[in-house]
This record gives sequence, C-alpha cells and structure tokens, in this order.
Amino acid sequence: MAGLACARTLSAAGLSVRVLEASDGVGGRVRSDVVDGFRLDRGFQILLTAYPELSRWFDMDDLQLRRFQAGATIWTGTRFTTIGDPLRSPRDLPSTITSSVGSLADKLRLLKLIASVRRGSVSQILRRSDMSTEAKIAQLGFSERFIKQFLQPLFSGIQLDPELEVSSRRFEVIFRMLSVGDSAVPAMGMGSLSELMANQLPAGVVQCNRKVAELDGTSVLLVDGERISSRVVVVATQGPTASDLLKLPDPGSRPVAAIWFDSSSDPLRNKKILLDGAQSGPMKNMAVLSEVAPEYAPAGRSLCVAAVPGPAALMPDLESSVRTQLKQWHPGSSSWETLRVDVIAHGQPLQLPPLDPRRTVRVGAGRYVCGDHRDTASLQGALFSGRRAAAAVLADLQDRSDS
Ligand SMILES: Cc1cc2nc3c(=O)[nH]c(=O)nc-3n(C[C@H](O)[C@H](O)[C@H](O)COP(=O)(O)OP(=O)(O)OC[C@H]3O[C@@H](n4cnc5c(N)ncnc54)[C@H](O)[C@@H]3O)c2cc1C
Repeated sequence: MAGLACARTLSAAGLSVRVLEASDGVGGRVRSDVVDGFRLDRGFQILLTAYPELSRWFDMDDLQLRRFQAGATIWTGTRFTTIGDPLRSPRDLPSTITSSVGSLADKLRLLKLIASVRRGSVSQILRRSDMSTEAKIAQLGFSERFIKQFLQPLFSGIQLDPELEVSSRRFEVIFRMLSVGDSAVPAMGMGSLSELMANQLPAGVVQCNRKVAELDGTSVLLVDGERISSRVVVVATQGPTASDLLKLPDPGSRPVAAIWFDSSSDPLRNKKILLDGAQSGPMKNMAVLSEVAPEYAPAGRSLCVAAVPGPAALMPDLESSVRTQLKQWHPGSSSWETLRVDVIAHGQPLQLPPLDPRRTVRVGAGRYVCGDHRDTASLQGALFSGRRAAAAVLADLQDRSDS
C-alpha cells in the first residue's frame, strides 16, 4: 500500500514510475484469495473507516464496506457477554452497564478515555507523552479484571501485542479511530483495496515477480540478474527487508496467525468482534466474517476466522490449541473444517515507545523509504508514508532542477 501510494503520487505528478514487486500480486500484507468459494484475507484484518487517508485514495462507494457492529462480544470463561458503544448505539446501554465485564467505574473510565482521544487532532495525540500501552491503561485506573477481559484481548488483536508493550500514542490513536468510525471490511475482501490502488496506475507500471536483491546508489539489482537504474529509488518493502536493503535499523516484527474455518456445519451468528476475556488459549479474537460480509462465503455458508497475535502465532501445535479453545466457546466448532492457516512472521513492526510517528523517508542521495515502519503500523500509516516519500522525492527533484 505504501509503494502504491507513492507510485500513484509520483505518476500523477508526471513522472515515469516502475513498481517492482517481488511476489505474484500487489498488496503485500493486504491481499485476499478465494479458497473453496470463500474469500480469505491474508490474516484477519479490518479497515477502520476513520483513517483519514482512505478518502484521499478511494471513492468510498467502490469499497462496498460491510460494517461490524460496534462493541465486542466477550467470552468470560463460562458464557458470552456484550460490551457496546452506547454513544453510537444507545440500545447497547443496558447490556453494557449490566455486563459482568468490568465495574461501573471501569465503564465511566472508558467514556473518559473516549472523550480524551476525541480531543484535538491525531497529530496532537501522536505528540502526547509516550509509554507502553500497559502503563497507559494502568495510569487511567482501569481494574485488572477489565484489562484482562476487554482491553488486553482487544488491543493484543489490533496491535498484535499480547504484552501491551506498544506505544501508548499508537493505542490512543487506534482508540480514537475505533470511537469515531466503524470497523469494516470491503465486500470483495481487504485485497480489493490494493487492487483498486494498483488499477489507478498506468498499465505496465506494476511489475510482479520482480524481486530486488540489492541496491547500489540509485540502481537496483533484481534476483534474476537484471540491473535497473533510475534517478530515484524508493524502497517500499516491509521494515526488515528495507533495513537489509538500505542498511537501516530493523524495526522488529510482531508475528500473527489466522485460522479460517468453514463453520457452516454449526454456524455462530454474531456481527461483533468476539474477544477472549478468559485468556483461555492463544486465540485472542474471532469474527464471523460471513455475518458481517456475506460476500466472504458462498451463499448459505458460514466463515469464521480466529486470530492469534504475538509469539504464540509461531507455536507448532497452533491449530489444535485453537480448536481446544474454541470447543469451550462453541462445542459445535469441532465439526468446522479448516480452510487455511496463515502464519505471518512480520505482521507489524514493534512500535515500542517512544514512537516517532514520522520517521525520515530520505536515506541518501536519490534514495527514499516508505512503509508502515516509517509511520504507524497500519493501512493509514502505510498510505501516509507513501505520500510523504513521494512529496520528498518531488521536493528534491524540484530543488535539483532549480539549482
Ligand atoms: C494479519 C494482519 C492483520 C493486520 N490488521 C490490520 C488492521 O486491522 N488494520 C490496519 O490498519 N492494519 C493492519 N495490519 C497492518 C497493515 O496490513 C500494514 O501496516 C500495511 O499493510 C503495511 O503496508 P506496507 O505497504 O507498508 O507493507 P507491505 O504490505 O508489507 O508491502 C511490502 C511489499 O514489498 C514487497 N517486497 C518485499 N521485499 C521485496 C523485494 N526484495 N523486492 C521487491 N518487492 C519486495 C512485498 O512483496 C510487498 O508487496 C495488519 C497486518 C497483518 C499482517
């Protein structure tokens, strides 16, 4: 997404651009595949509709967004309970107040946090004092139980961070996005975002199966031995690869896994995110995607995805551990069929405090870098960083032609 955003900006400014993509399709971490008629993203992802970059790049109608219900359904160890967003869905007020998840004081603290993250601009939030998400949550006074049952499973899923060590700036920005917009998926899968981005580039600009092996100044050597020289090179790979190619510090990796189930044999019916508030296994959240976006499954069929963020994603018995966990939640899940297991070693960069949300995109004469590791680890951050890198290229080329 970062590379496509950069290429689109440069191409719109009249430059001749080539996108060299290592894999067989565009999108990087944001791709979808059709498996047995089901639409599977590469890992469980959601689009937060409040991301400011979205409206810059997309006609929102083209996305055909399918929205999750606000709030969450929480597994407490013996039953499910609901936390809603009474500000947006007043009918959730009674169930939220009476929910066994957290005390009334926790719910009031939640409202206070929502008010705080809605104040000021996003860039102001990104300049607030920084600490780990865990420290921030403790500072806000939430009870252990509320953290364990709600905040930890929710944010370990979004930040791929079961330890809640990610920057509190990032946490507060996500909280703002969650509280002012919706969580959604495009009807045709998250990968349709990447395809829509790529389709706006002139034909032939994006070249797949063209992996870059190394860089020398502003020329690149491809793994097939071809060398391509250019006035400018922008490296738009994931952080660890960018650090190899450009000799930059490695931004680190948060792994994540997703298990996709054909749950038609005994479907769940739920349009909210389901959270593991009982810490009953490696899965932290789950979604019944076909309830939210019927286009994700063949007619009359049901699709569930279970997400395992953090190091547990790499455990050898991942699928059996998740199935054991799921059986407590929904005994009928033992008849579900596994469609695919995605294990993604680099889900997001670490994003530890202090988080610099605008790391430089200039790395030497004619050399630039973009990607979620330059801004925030999200679609928003990737798109924004691509635009920033393109702006730096255009400004530097302008300076060169002026001098
Ligand atoms: C499972 C999962 C869930 C997520 N959930 C969310 C979410 O809910 N909301 C959200 O906002 N974000 C989420 N994210 C994060 C988000 O997907 C990323 O921040 C964003 O997609 C990063 O985009 P990018 O362009 O920076 O990098 P990438 O998508 O990694 O793109 C890098 C590209 O570079 C290519 N490449 C790599 N090496 C080479 C090479 N040597 N030569 C040529 N090409 C190369 C890759 O093939 C790839 O296409 C999630 C990520 C994962 C994995």
